[in-house]
Amino acid sequence: MIHVLDSNLIDKIAAGEVVERPASVVKELVENSVDAGATEVTIEIEGGGIDLIRVSDNGKGIAKEELRTAFLRHATSKLNKIEDLEAIPTFGFRGEALSSISSVAEVEVITKTASDEIAHRLVLSGGVVTEEGECAANQGTSMCIKNLFFNTPARRKFLKKPATEGSLVSEVMNKMAMGHPEVAFKYTANGSRMLQTGGDGNLRENIFQIYGRDTASKLIEVKHEKDGYVISGMIGKPELNRGNRSYENFFIAGRAVKSKIVSAAAEDAYKGRLMTGKFPVFILDLRVPDGCVDVNVHPAKLEVRFSDEGKIYELVKTAIDKALGGEELIPKVSWDQSPKEKAPEQLKIDNEFEYTAKPMDTPKMKVAEPAAVHTPVAADDFTYDTKPAEPLIAVKSL
Ligand code: ADP
Ligand code: MG
Repeated sequence: MIHVLDSNLIDKIAAGEVVERPASVVKELVENSVDAGATEVTIEIEGGGIDLIRVSDNGKGIAKEELRTAFLRHATSKLNKIEDLEAIPTFGFRGEALSSISSVAEVEVITKTASDEIAHRLVLSGGVVTEEGECAANQGTSMCIKNLFFNTPARRKFLKKPATEGSLVSEVMNKMAMGHPEVAFKYTANGSRMLQTGGDGNLRENIFQIYGRDTASKLIEVKHEKDGYVISGMIGKPELNRGNRSYENFFIAGRAVKSKIVSAAAEDAYKGRLMTGKFPVFILDLRVPDGCVDVNVHPAKLEVRFSDEGKIYELVKTAIDKALGGEELIPKVSWDQSPKEKAPEQLKIDNEFEYTAKPMDTPKMKVAEPAAVHTPVAADDFTYDTKPAEPLIAVKSL
């Protein structure tokens, strides 16, 4: 007999798309915290996140009268009309996370808005409210998820060992920290500190924590703007490379996404600078004008499609080319003088030039405009530096 599925069952089916494992729960909850304007987010997991996930933030909180609604399917405060789907501020919002998560786990939420006198608490099990009340808490929201997939044994069986699930959560947290250097994250697993960021916008510092000193010290800053598109972040010097794409990090407005066109553009920019089979290291964030990203490609919102792929390719390739080119100018300057000018008596001048060039190079150059700044300065310096050589001749003639 044909019949319409009840909403709780629909939520459980939908949960399969949004909530695959603890890492996807953490991603959804932390994104909600960031969306809520949190500047501090604490993430605790136990048993790889299968036993417990708690995400607490100091964001704007959820009003009492909206708390139950937040757990209904397609309940969202971020999307009102179809045009919003095109707008970047609503990128990826479908109002599915909380309903999906709560349908396959035990959830306790405690939340307080700035205008609420007291915090509100809601407990749900398998999507059904079991407790509701008031309690004391600071402004913000704390979501505690226990026993993930307790009511969907087939899915639970599909989970890997806690250690493996935990490392997937760590990957999500690493991406969060690189995508949102403006947020202070504190992440612990079974009580041990895994990651703690300052939230002061220092991307290099976050990368240092995640990838270590060596990687952090071999990064070049990138910033490139065109027609309202802005690409910024850090890329590895060519000496820093990997055997796979795992250090290719791409974000749209802080959200980790995958894009084949971006990987291709970056890899093409490094072509000739990396050995075959090696992949670059990059942490790049893109801001695009509204309506230029197709957000509906994948329910987990990982894979994005751009309306103008050629433009994105050019943008990313140019941004990296420019940054790498600026970096390469440093050794090039002393070698690239036209060879026929290298008459023996001019070697001295070359050396002098090399010498004067160094103090200019050693301070951390703004990589944003090296090509523009560096080339003319180098040329000027060169002609200028030939002049002080004249007194030498004068001395000789004495
Ligand atoms: P979406 O994020 O797509 O809107 P969710 O199911 O993740 O859908 O969340 C539903 C709604 O609950 C959000 O639109 C938001 O209004 C509210 N919400 C969820 N988490 C938080 C939070 N940490 N702080 C404030 N509001 C939240
Ligand atoms: Mg959400």
